Amino acid sequence: MDRYSRQIILEKFGKERQELLSKKSALVIGLGGTGGLISQLLVRGGLGKVYINDYDSVTLSNLHRQLLYDELDLGRKKVDVAAEKLSRMNSETRVIPIDGKLTPSILEEYVQKVDIVMDGTDNFETRFVINDACVKHKKPWIYAGVLATYGNVMPIIPGKTACLRCLMRDLPVKYETTSTRGILNSIPSAIASMAVSLAFRILFGEDLDSAIYYYDGWEIRIEKIPLKRQEDCPACSLGRFDFLRPG
Ligand SMILES: [Zn+2]
Repeated sequence: MDRYSRQIILEKFGKERQELLSKKSALVIGLGGTGGLISQLLVRGGLGKVYINDYDSVTLSNLHRQLLYDELDLGRKKVDVAAEKLSRMNSETRVIPIDGKLTPSILEEYVQKVDIVMDGTDNFETRFVINDACVKHKKPWIYAGVLATYGNVMPIIPGKTACLRCLMRDLPVKYETTSTRGILNSIPSAIASMAVSLAFRILFGEDLDSAIYYYDGWEIRIEKIPLKRQEDCPACSLGRFDFLRPG
């Protein structure tokens, strides 16, 4: 029985698209609750290559929501644990671990190697760098954010949809994170799943609407908020990449 038989019989997939996935590659930045599940779904789904990046180690407070890790992994580098486990999930996918914080110039190098970039980070500093790198090199990326009982997903296809800087002109000065507001453990996996559905569609060459999806994981409600590209967006309209300073 084929590993992908249940995926191939899907009306939205088929043999050709499954074959196409095996030639595609992704970079997942951040391997927490969201990035950990994103990387699993991409690897299990049959992408050819999945680059994974994180600089952190597994701590006890990660375990209530970060499904890739268990108690035996405590204290180990997330990127090492993830590489081991992901390779066991699907040996047909090449899993390439990248340890450490990505400087803007290294990030740019990796962005050019892959077909899509997936956001598993928890901070806007990194997301603004990802946005600049992806817009500059015309690579699609998916913004995925979670906080408390809700989350956001936004597919960004440079030149077609609004980018992160169309939505947020400047880096927020102060914003809340899961360490200050907490996180319901079902939210990261829900947001990761939505991000991966959108990623498959982008990899298949489908056009996506310019929009951000807001998910309320307590009331169970999804809202699709249309977004317009901003004519004066520094990144996608003016081609100014303020966050790609060498680091
Ligand atoms: Zn823009």
